[in-house]
Amino acid sequence: MSYRFAEQVGLPAAQIRGRTMHEILIGIGASRTVEGRKSLDLLAANFQAGTAFRDLTMQVVVRGDTRWWSMSGHPGSGESSDYGWRGVGSDITHSYHQRQNILRLAEVDSLTGLSNRYSFNAQVSSLLRDGRRVWLAILDLDNFKSINDRLGHHVGDEVLRDVASRIHGVLRSNEICGRLGGDEFAIAFDDIEDTDEVKDRFQTILDAFERPFALVGNQIRIRASLGYGSLPDDAENLEELMIVADLALYHAKESGRHQIRAFDVALRDRATGRARALLDLRRALIDEEFELVYQPQVSAGTGVVVGFEALLRWNHPTSGLVSPGDFISVAEETGLIVPIGAGVLRAACTAATSWPEDIRVAVNVSQVQLRSSRYVESVRQTLEEVNLAPERLEIEVTESLVIDDADRDVLVQLSALGIAIAMDDFGTGFSSVASLSRLPLDRLKIDRAFVAPLDADPASSRFAVLRAVIAIAKSLGLDTVAEGVETERQRAMVTECGCDVIQGYLEGVPYGQPRFRPTCIGVLGPGQAKCSGYH
Ligand code: C2E
Ligand code: MG
Ligand code: MG
Repeated sequence: MSYRFAEQVGLPAAQIRGRTMHEILIGIGASRTVEGRKSLDLLAANFQAGTAFRDLTMQVVVRGDTRWWSMSGHPGSGESSDYGWRGVGSDITHSYHQRQNILRLAEVDSLTGLSNRYSFNAQVSSLLRDGRRVWLAILDLDNFKSINDRLGHHVGDEVLRDVASRIHGVLRSNEICGRLGGDEFAIAFDDIEDTDEVKDRFQTILDAFERPFALVGNQIRIRASLGYGSLPDDAENLEELMIVADLALYHAKESGRHQIRAFDVALRDRATGRARALLDLRRALIDEEFELVYQPQVSAGTGVVVGFEALLRWNHPTSGLVSPGDFISVAEETGLIVPIGAGVLRAACTAATSWPEDIRVAVNVSQVQLRSSRYVESVRQTLEEVNLAPERLEIEVTESLVIDDADRDVLVQLSALGIAIAMDDFGTGFSSVASLSRLPLDRLKIDRAFVAPLDADPASSRFAVLRAVIAIAKSLGLDTVAEGVETERQRAMVTECGCDVIQGYLEGVPYGQPRFRPTCIGVLGPGQAKCSGYH
């Protein structure tokens, strides 16, 4: 043994002489760890077989310090040499740790410490090999983008770390979990058969979000949605399993967020339908198949027409007139709503320029449009180009959306231009009175769902609710519009509740460009609007 070797193992040369390498290494405690024993076994196997070895990495313990060595050696050539073996070794502890770190980085998501997509997939793949039913869920935060945008990326990062530790905190030992990227996490397991139990499991994971998150001194609620599927029921391989879980997640988001949804075949059919619809919509935009119809809005007190709501129709070459309910969501998802919406705004404003000056036009705007770049500027420009006073335009935003601060800013800017803002479908979504007062609203459109039941049971609590809603709107200084008024009775009741404006089939169905007989406007009695004011 060389002097350097003695130095490396921390023993005086005298203690080394005459002993085999194996004995020396055991003597300094190399066999104390599992790794160390493995290294020794490898070395022993080579010595025994008398075969040369190269770059054998082994763990040794020198004076209590764990080191990594790289060893190469070959047997001495028998009679010509006194030596059994010749070889070299070097201490590679530093580069060994570096390599381990790199390997770890390749598997671990550095932000959260969870497995990354690559290693999550690898772990799920190994579950699949056992042939048992594997469940896989994808979880996505509901409002992460707005947190990132509003509070900055470092706060976003903190949220992701907290989310990871919450998921990790409720994970059972045999569950696999990883961060797929962004605010998407995935969980998989293969030890539950019962579908109810599976759902409970995922519910437990979502429940970990019930506690508010402490961020920059505030308690903030962060919710998540989760979609899942199983193999072999829903998918044949991991790639498909990811896709079905993603479709289910999508469905969960669509169903109002903070929900759990399991995959079913109808979702796949819908996705295919969507892909087809997208192609169809693109073509429709080019072929100019969209048109607008206008539904009158009538003053409850006087019956005078005060405005029209522009409603989009798709004049489909084979399906005929298609309602927005059937294509707006696809247009929103694909971003096509931005050019479609721009066309709607221009056409509606242009139409309004030919109407009497006290008649407003209301245009529906989806959140995707509000969030598109330079939206306010494009509205301002359109008004200028078609020469319509901003006061004659009303923009309707639907209440079923969570309106965040960025959306609110856009509404404030529109309002500052003089455009009226209406909250559409009120009563169907998330608004609280508090959220109403923080938005620059002019008008509240009370959803049909409040109006329709008035006929069946006039004494019902609905009536009281309607009255209360209108009172609240008034106290916030908002006008109210009752949507979907179909009968005289409904009109009488909403009017009695104090509603300002009525819109519904009773006053007029959505129809093509209204034409006016200007002399009649303003002198009509209730109910006469649809036949007398315009036709
Ligand atoms: P909305 O803004 O709440 O529009 C009112 C919907 O109720 C219209 O359906 C209208 O035809 C219908 N309606 C009106 N009166 C009555 C009634 O008395 N009884 C019944 N049963 N229904 C009535 P439509 O035209 O199918 O529009 C559906 C939704 O599509 C709209 O709801 C709006 O949210 C959206 N939408 C329509 N046009 C556009 C558009 O240009 N852009 C965007 N982003 N969304 C649009
Ligand atoms: Mg509307
Ligand atoms: Mg509505």
